[in-house]
Amino acid sequence: MIVMKFGGTSVEDATAIRRLVSIVRNQLERQPIVAVSAMSRVTNGLLDCARLTAEGNEVEMRAKLDDITARHYQAADDLALPDERESLREALQAQFAELLGILDEIRRQAKVTPALSDAVSANGELLSSLLVAAAFRADGISSERIDIRPLMRTNDDFMRAAIDFEVADPLLKQAFTAKVEAGKVPVTQGFIGSTADGRTTTIGRGGSDYSASIIGAAVDATAIEIWTDVDGMMTTDPRIVPEAAKIKTISFAEASELAYFGAKVLHPATLRPAMVKDIPVYICNSRRPQVQGTAILSHAPSAKAPIKAIAFKRGITVVNIASVRMLMAHGFLARLFEVFNRHETAVDMVATSEVSVSMTLDDTRHLDAVIADLQEFGEVTVERDRAIICLVGEQMKFTPGLASRIFTPLNQINISMISHGASAINASFVVEDAVVAEAVKRLHQEFFSELDEETFEKVRD
Ligand code: ADP
Ligand code: ASP
Ligand code: MG
Repeated sequence: MIVMKFGGTSVEDATAIRRLVSIVRNQLERQPIVAVSAMSRVTNGLLDCARLTAEGNEVEMRAKLDDITARHYQAADDLALPDERESLREALQAQFAELLGILDEIRRQAKVTPALSDAVSANGELLSSLLVAAAFRADGISSERIDIRPLMRTNDDFMRAAIDFEVADPLLKQAFTAKVEAGKVPVTQGFIGSTADGRTTTIGRGGSDYSASIIGAAVDATAIEIWTDVDGMMTTDPRIVPEAAKIKTISFAEASELAYFGAKVLHPATLRPAMVKDIPVYICNSRRPQVQGTAILSHAPSAKAPIKAIAFKRGITVVNIASVRMLMAHGFLARLFEVFNRHETAVDMVATSEVSVSMTLDDTRHLDAVIADLQEFGEVTVERDRAIICLVGEQMKFTPGLASRIFTPLNQINISMISHGASAINASFVVEDAVVAEAVKRLHQEFFSELDEETFEKVRD
């Protein structure tokens, strides 16, 4: 069995879904399980509908909802066989009716609670999976849509629910294996799950990659394929550096660092389940299926290049605490981190000096409470609109002189919180958000102007 996950652009319309069908058709003998995201822009659109409803802005809400509805019906009419068109329309209609019911509830409450937000945004995947299953049937592939919610058990931390693996793993294994053994291609949803009492949850934005890996590990798949809109994992985000090159093979450790530090092509948690079962993960381009993608394996062949890729994470906040009195007192850092723990706020990077500690945060929902509690330790200052830049490569630790190659091209750019060593394969630092694109371009020029063809491949159109 393999798991094939298709992201938003890979199901964005009937043309994309037809491409998906042909990609899966070529792999039928490997017993695929297909997991899909919502059509591109639909999750955001649905969340906008929820917010606009709460604000009482019915006109704008309607316009957005009509647009989402029209895209789905259009794709349905293009994809379904004539005698299935009506039943597919009815299935979509039933899903939209459910959505309207939830929007009614939001209207009544005049606010979007996290639970209602999930009940709305889950519709994107529930709808797209109806279309994809119908497209398989239209192409003569025996397929069945599976609502993953009763299988993908989570806690009730809505909008970023954690998986209850003890419950979910056996349920996923049983349900998907049974369908595959019956000769069917199961089509299911990424991103969504449900609580023990049946309330819909989502596992965090971009979470469909993670869903695919959870399913893959549960069924002991031989491969997990992430089909997206780029040729693979690249030396950096091609939206910033169009000449970014494809990485042929990368290790789980390297790819995890990149995902964690902002390489959006993979949700940060994706590789965890795959690593536990040592299942290779491939990133492939659904628009160019003939191109070999990136293989993410437990061990990548050692590269000549010190750096494999550059990732960046924007919208970061830095919190500094200066305290002459307490800093070197034992137990100080423990008490400091206890504050973050109490407010459920994760810290990404830490830098300390004799009299101060700096930390980066991604999630600032509880920032005011964190700052209030930190003030008892010393003077607290906050820097907003920062970004982390992170260079990753397993050869880094064997490469002398690397620091000057990293920092020389960045002259005139303010750099803080330099960190290397926590993981020997990662060097990261903080810059102002406004200069992140320029800094990444210069670093890319420095490290990837000449490419070792054993490790990288230029992307040609
Ligand atoms: P999907 O909808 O298929 O999940 P995403 O938009 O979530 O697709 O992720 C793919 C995007 O990730 C690419 O279009 C690219 O702009 C971005 N990206 C960021 N960093 C990288 C990287 N290092 N390699 C490839 N893509 C990257
Ligand atoms: N559709 C969801 C999102 O936009 C999940 C995903 O695409 O992975 O966040
Ligand atoms: Mg994604």
